[in-house]
Amino acid sequence: MERLVRSCYKQGGYVFAKKAGGRTHGAGDERIARLASNENPEGPSPAAVMAAQEAVLTANRYPDERVDVLVSALKTHYGDYAFVAGVGMDGVIETLMRTLVEPGETVAVSTPTFSFYGLAAQAQGAKVVSVPRRADFSVDIDALIAAGKDAKIIVLCSPNNPTGNATRVEDVKRVLEGINGFLFLDNAYVEFSGIDYLPLIRKYENLVIGRTFSKVYSLAGLRIGYAFVPAWLQPYYARAGTPFTVNSVSAAAAAAALSDDGHADRYIGHVRVWRKRYADKIKFPVLPSDANFVMINVTPHTGDEIVENLAAKGVLVRSCRSFTGLGDHYIRVSVGEDWENERCIQELNAL
Ligand SMILES: *Cc1c(COP(=O)(O)O)cnc(C)c1O
Repeated sequence: MERLVRSCYKQGGYVFAKKAGGRTHGAGDERIARLASNENPEGPSPAAVMAAQEAVLTANRYPDERVDVLVSALKTHYGDYAFVAGVGMDGVIETLMRTLVEPGETVAVSTPTFSFYGLAAQAQGAKVVSVPRRADFSVDIDALIAAGKDAKIIVLCSPNNPTGNATRVEDVKRVLEGINGFLFLDNAYVEFSGIDYLPLIRKYENLVIGRTFSKVYSLAGLRIGYAFVPAWLQPYYARAGTPFTVNSVSAAAAAAALSDDGHADRYIGHVRVWRKRYADKIKFPVLPSDANFVMINVTPHTGDEIVENLAAKGVLVRSCRSFTGLGDHYIRVSVGEDWENERCIQELNAL
């Protein structure tokens, strides 16, 4: 019966990080260090947990399709912008592609990067074009503009997953002025960077900035993300989306998480300290990062080898082999708790 499946899904798909399965401990008695998915190792904010518990009591009712509880919290936090929400930023990306992309149109993606943009574009029958970064992983802005001229959407991730580096606001501005379509700017890690792209959203009608509660806000399991959008786009996004896509528990938790700045700031401070320690202490070249992870060049080993080797010792990290255009010799390591980071450094240096 497999012949009935669309040809674009006969192979490929999203590559997930290595998991611990049900295990909490590795070989021996050691706890497993989970550094493969860029999660905040501290639990969610207690305010978010309480809001979720309260919201679940009325889970017999359909959620508010406008997600007002979250939108008003976002406006309190960031100011009077137009927002859309989704099932993770991944859900936002999917709905955005559905809203904008006709079959056969082009989506240009600055690579190597997060793979879901291409998968979501493909689902709409788009032609996906990769625009490679330079050898140092900075974005070749002219190449992106040239490739993006005829594209419906250009996708740029900053800080970029998995390379960790950010693109300057000035350069993003140049892209916005040089293209005819949309720019989707993925800001999943922007809270760790100190860079502010928001002034651009007031000025450009062809910019969407995607954000998530999965990373700094510690709510990956609740699957909730959002985007700053031009106001004109909002009603179309609503039409294209799955009805009641954001559930009431996630929306309540996310809104409460936004109000707990202390929780987020603590983790951001911790990340800043550990990014530097990783760079100082690991014997392999660690790329400069503006995110809550670092990418490491593990030559002469392959990323896959290192992942297997460390997993056997109870340390889970991510091989970057599945990121198109990056090659075989990189791993990505999240900033976790102190003991997790220390164990990872120790095992890498013992290789
Ligand atoms: C984690 C991540 C996302 C998506 O996160 P959600 O959990 O779907 O909100 C989007 N973009 C990048 C670059 C990411 O790393």
